[in-house]
Amino acid sequence: MEKKRVVIVGAGVSGLAACKQLLERGCRPVVFEADTGVGGVWAWTLEGTALQTPRPMYQYSDFPWPETVTEVFPDHRQVMDYLGAYARRFGVLDCVRFGHRVAGMEYVGVGKEDVAAWDEWAGNGDAFGSGSSEWRLEVADGEGHIERWIFSKFAESYYSIPMKKYGMVPDHSLFEALITCLIAITPKDHYKRLEEGSIVLKKSKTFSFCNEGVLVEGESSPIKSDIVIFGTGFRGGQKIKEMFTSEYFQSIAVGSASTTIPLYREIIHPKIPQLAVIGYSESLANLYTSELRAKWLAHFMDGGFRLPSISVMQNDVQKWEKFMKRYSRAYFRRSCIGFLHIWYNDKLCRDMGCNPRRKNGFWADLFDVHGPGDYIDLHPKKE
Ligand SMILES: Cc1cc2nc3c(=O)[nH]c(=O)nc-3n(C[C@H](O)[C@H](O)[C@H](O)COP(=O)(O)OP(=O)(O)OC[C@H]3O[C@@H](n4cnc5c(N)ncnc54)[C@H](O)[C@@H]3O)c2cc1C
Repeated sequence: MEKKRVVIVGAGVSGLAACKQLLERGCRPVVFEADTGVGGVWAWTLEGTALQTPRPMYQYSDFPWPETVTEVFPDHRQVMDYLGAYARRFGVLDCVRFGHRVAGMEYVGVGKEDVAAWDEWAGNGDAFGSGSSEWRLEVADGEGHIERWIFSKFAESYYSIPMKKYGMVPDHSLFEALITCLIAITPKDHYKRLEEGSIVLKKSKTFSFCNEGVLVEGESSPIKSDIVIFGTGFRGGQKIKEMFTSEYFQSIAVGSASTTIPLYREIIHPKIPQLAVIGYSESLANLYTSELRAKWLAHFMDGGFRLPSISVMQNDVQKWEKFMKRYSRAYFRRSCIGFLHIWYNDKLCRDMGCNPRRKNGFWADLFDVHGPGDYIDLHPKKE
């Protein structure tokens, strides 16, 4: 892949993994990062934030945490140090252009009617297409799953006891929350703080501002506040959509309100050629999922396997959508493979010609926790 020109947008956990995997295959990608350093969201988290996934699950398979980090849930500075060290160790830093924001992307060399009519991804099913079309980027620099249902019901009744006390049991079930990565892990001493009154919870679907602070639906007087911090999440789908210049790609990029985000293997949009998305769909341990996806993608780009036809990929996307609508109901649009991540990893392994059974023994494969260490010696084979 030495001569191929590849651009990665973002130097967060996903972009770093993608760059490292491509470097290993002789490709030298350019990483455009709008920010001034690596780390993505970790660079901007509040003091006191930390990992919620235990450290052994949040590490690149071939890059263990240093021995000096002994905490099960390292804090955001330790995560930043770890990511920086990874980028330096594998030469990723040399590929990153910091302060460069991708402001627009246009697919040139072929008309949108032709792209819309293609049966094979990128026209011929190859990662780089026929060679006659490519993405032109506008870059601005600094200035400019079911057997587990029983377990989930048991856990739900356990966790809801303290939540009931504070009226915080959500409308959706724990099962739905797991399927959609809607689980929130309480910070240290959360219930103690509630008990002593330094954290007060108010459940409300709407709120408004007034001179004294915030007026919460159902409350007669405002909550006096100088600062209001929104912890309401962000719209990653919008970010992806807005990167496209063409209205056609904008209209299909993230599906519609009645569909899931249409990504085959949560990576490839069947109708958007020569482009892949690594970190949009969440898992219970995003870092190693991003790494496995990056490995899958690098192998595909290196000619390791072919994608199925567009219609087969679309059918696969629809099956997933049906599953999500059935089990996560109102939250079906959330892209998350968290509850099914072993099943999902198995698919990526099979695509890469690797044995998805990563453990020593039938029972271990069925019941042991799977983590980054199980994918260390994954050696993809060419078809
Ligand atoms: C406090 C906190 C705790 C968390 N804890 C966990 C945890 O315990 N377990 C877990 O699995 N996940 C956790 N997460 C989720 C976390 O987001 C992911 O694990 C992971 O860091 C996401 O990495 P990413 O590279 O996919 O995206 P991001 O970190 O969002 O990186 C995207 C990068 O792309 C850049 N970018 C975006 N648009 C452009 C553009 N147009 N041009 C150029 N550059 C661009 C951004 O500047 C950014 O650097 C946590 C997140 C936070 C904030």
